[in-house]
Amino acid sequence: MARLTDWLAARRAAGTLRRLRPVVRLADGRLQLAAAPDLPPLLDLSSNDYLALSAHPAVIAASHAALNGWGAGAGAARLMSGDLALHHQLEEAVAGLKGQEAALLFGSGFMANAGVIPALVGRGDVIFADRLDHASIYDGCRLSGARLHRFRHNDPDHLEELLAKHRGKGQALVVVESIYSMDGDRCPLVAFAALKERYDFLLLVDEAHATGLFGANGGGVIEADGVGEAVDLALGTFGKALGSYGAYIAGSREMIDYLVNRARSFIYSTALPPAVIGASLAAVELVRADASLRQALWARVAGFKDRLRQGGLVADLGPSQIVPVEVGESSLALALAGELLKQGIFATAVRPPTVPEGTARLRFSVTLHLSDDDLVRVADALLDVLRRLAPRLLAG
Ligand SMILES: *Cc1c(COP(=O)(O)O)cnc(C)c1O
Repeated sequence: MARLTDWLAARRAAGTLRRLRPVVRLADGRLQLAAAPDLPPLLDLSSNDYLALSAHPAVIAASHAALNGWGAGAGAARLMSGDLALHHQLEEAVAGLKGQEAALLFGSGFMANAGVIPALVGRGDVIFADRLDHASIYDGCRLSGARLHRFRHNDPDHLEELLAKHRGKGQALVVVESIYSMDGDRCPLVAFAALKERYDFLLLVDEAHATGLFGANGGGVIEADGVGEAVDLALGTFGKALGSYGAYIAGSREMIDYLVNRARSFIYSTALPPAVIGASLAAVELVRADASLRQALWARVAGFKDRLRQGGLVADLGPSQIVPVEVGESSLALALAGELLKQGIFATAVRPPTVPEGTARLRFSVTLHLSDDDLVRVADALLDVLRRLAPRLLAG
């Protein structure tokens, strides 16, 4: 297969070949690189397990109990015989968490976007999506066959301009994320929702990085901003702050009934296994019952950012648990990540084409696996390598 060989060789030469790096995750959330078992374990600043629920005793116990009681697999798709009562329990809990009438489970967030968007719009319809929306959203858009317009990131005025020009007569769907995964910035959801007063469209909000963290009850930015009424579909994953796997869509009963009949990634795929549902149920109950987990996270996020600012870092560190440090060139981002790795810190260098040219960055994801002391160590290590390799990023 000369074509594959050439493609891989070109990527390798350009330094952009992606590679898997097997790790062992220790009970405290640190990572042991499988290729270097003698190195001390690394602090993980790259995971989305924000509340450390993947390792929470109540989540693990509930997962064990579901596995023991219901077996290892659901056995079939939901519309066949795989529709376990357990799935409905989780859907009710999620509908409650999201303040919506009903919810529907999907195998993953990727499958949810790839299935829901084509169920809602097709040829003759139109989609308006934020330029920085997740790959799964764009794949769902492509699959739908609807005309696609991308608006400038977090820019409701640009969306309005496009709506005025291209709304047309078919169904219109607007897709945003509430917290963006690479920039950690927050969507001006109130302004987007307000456009519904002048334009007719369905609003889909992907809360992958917000559910469990924002809102008085952990319902996400939709809850925090009080815009539940304007949101037709709230999508989220159980694989991030909720610590397990799978995804959901929450909406009206009618919307869910429709998706059961139309979303192909729901219809033609085996239902999630009991152990995963048990874990997710416990996680949803934990975040609804107890705000102390997210409060603890926000305290650590604030401490981390303060330490960086006091050390002279002038970059905008954003409003969320995802802390981007923009450095410019890809080579610099890689060098900085390499230096941090030597000091036992696993942080991701995010480079073009994932982000625009000249805006390569280090991305620090703060989780409850990291203690205040760990975060001080990370901040000081970062300030130290910046002083050596990129002093222009520091004040004074
Ligand atoms: C991670 C993510 C997804 C995919 O969810 P998975 O459950 O990991 O498949 C979808 N949308 C956004 C915005 C995400 O960040």
